[in-house]
Amino acid sequence: MKTWTGTGVSEGIVSGPLWIYLPARYEVPRRAGCDPEAEWQRVLSALEKVKTNIAALRERAGQSVGEAEAAIFDAHRMFLEDPELLEDIQRRLQEEGINAEAAVQDAGQNFAQMMLALEDAYFRERAQDVQDVIQQVIRALLGLDQSGQSPLQPAIILAEELTPSDTIQFERSVILGLVTMRGGPTSHAAILARSLGVPAVVSVPFEWADLHSGQPAILDGNRGTLTVDPDPNTLAKAEQSGAVYRARQKALLESAQAPTVTRDGLRVEVVANIGSVEDAVQAVRYGAEGVGLFRTEFLYMGQNALLSEEQQIAAYREVFHILSPRPVVVRTLDIGGDKDIPYLGLQREQNPFLGWRGIRMISERPDLISGQFRALLQAGVDVDLRIMIPMVSSLQEITQARELFEQTRIELMKQGLPCAEQVQFGIMVEVPSIALVAEHAAKLVDFFSIGTNDLTQYTLAVDRGNERVASLASPFHPAVLQLIARTVRAAHSAGKWCGLCGEMAGDPLAAPFLLGIGLDEFSASPALIPALKETLRKLDASQCRPIAEACLTLSSPEEVQERLRKIAG
Ligand code: PEP
Ligand code: MG
Repeated sequence: MKTWTGTGVSEGIVSGPLWIYLPARYEVPRRAGCDPEAEWQRVLSALEKVKTNIAALRERAGQSVGEAEAAIFDAHRMFLEDPELLEDIQRRLQEEGINAEAAVQDAGQNFAQMMLALEDAYFRERAQDVQDVIQQVIRALLGLDQSGQSPLQPAIILAEELTPSDTIQFERSVILGLVTMRGGPTSHAAILARSLGVPAVVSVPFEWADLHSGQPAILDGNRGTLTVDPDPNTLAKAEQSGAVYRARQKALLESAQAPTVTRDGLRVEVVANIGSVEDAVQAVRYGAEGVGLFRTEFLYMGQNALLSEEQQIAAYREVFHILSPRPVVVRTLDIGGDKDIPYLGLQREQNPFLGWRGIRMISERPDLISGQFRALLQAGVDVDLRIMIPMVSSLQEITQARELFEQTRIELMKQGLPCAEQVQFGIMVEVPSIALVAEHAAKLVDFFSIGTNDLTQYTLAVDRGNERVASLASPFHPAVLQLIARTVRAAHSAGKWCGLCGEMAGDPLAAPFLLGIGLDEFSASPALIPALKETLRKLDASQCRPIAEACLTLSSPEEVQERLRKIAG
């Protein structure tokens, strides 16, 4: 028996035989003195072949795993049509007189390198997509078969890494789980596994010499481990926990689409935190009734320049379309000194969390915020759109942001462009100062959403990114609880609603307190939603009120947690 630990990127525990996936390898021939025009024609016809193949794979993916994964093939097609890549291939043919295969390989490598040099992990992982389509073009040029292989019976698939065109060849019903030596949480193995609901572990430092197809194995996506040749005892335990996990997930998922009503009949809204198109798909799958926090940072990271207005509109539309007709709270850019976006010219700061962050950029870069308002208002026609401002610490910032929002709206209408009507305007309450003047702030907004991740860090003076002080960062600290309760009360007194989108919302232990203070909306990571809904359904809101009051009188996070654990039983 041998166990390796990697990163669990999709939950679940399975046992079964390993099946090792080895993509076919071949030598790319290299010749000089070729006719550039004839070679270019070969490239064009290979590109056509690959595009046809991609279209077929896309259709198959759309039917078997859904649009999220199918969209990857749209990206593949876009790479094949990228003018920079095509020009580079043509230039190499003309200047170097090399054959089509060699020019495609060199230009493809160059393109992938460019993506690898980007800051954002998501875009670095897309470099693998470029390599994948380039391999397909070379195979087409070499006249090699494009179709692949798949295990014949259910197996845990193990590979060095998996590209979308590798994974699409696998018959879905035989995938028990996925293990790769490379990749991160946004790798295709992870995306595929999550959409299929099977476990996946990536970045596993296994040795090929220790493994062979057919070998019995256990894959634990919760712990992030791969065990081969398990002893009977370990195997029996894994099978039992796997069965318990699957039964629980199945039951939770079955009731996930139903509304959340507490035992005493109170309807509670449970929505999702998302940061990408894939998250939006997951949110719907896990029963989110909407989105309580759409982090828009991903639109700004990993590129060399700001997206054009059209590109922004298209990106928002894609997410809105997936979630339609659910309400979506979109948070404007929350980027600051701690995240480096070269084209924004951010300065290094000694205390980035206390620095030029979120709405604080409104005086120097109002264009960034109004640009986002413009795109959102145009993309959000017919959407239950709510816009939210991060990092607010004063009333003046709210007034300034609202003015800019109204100006943007008027400008769009003057230009005769589409413009969403009835958009709610809210703020994140994540800085103690704004929580303490919440009564005043509530008059200036339509809603609040409490960001307990930052509210905890700022209230307790604990850097949320510093491992050494992590144990001090508890949202159960009565000081944080007082601010949360005060914010909800202030919203309600002004007739406004209040949500909570920090990690605390997804913690079942916090549910009785949050329900007890009358929180209107819980916004959590999509995968946590089914269990959260179940927890809330078991609670009685009227019984939670005195419990919440009691928590507010306690003096330490430990006392609060202990009090809440008693209710959880
Ligand atoms: C928060 O601060 O609680 C929050 C939800 O925002 P973020 O984690 O993006 O700072
Ligand atoms: Mg925050």
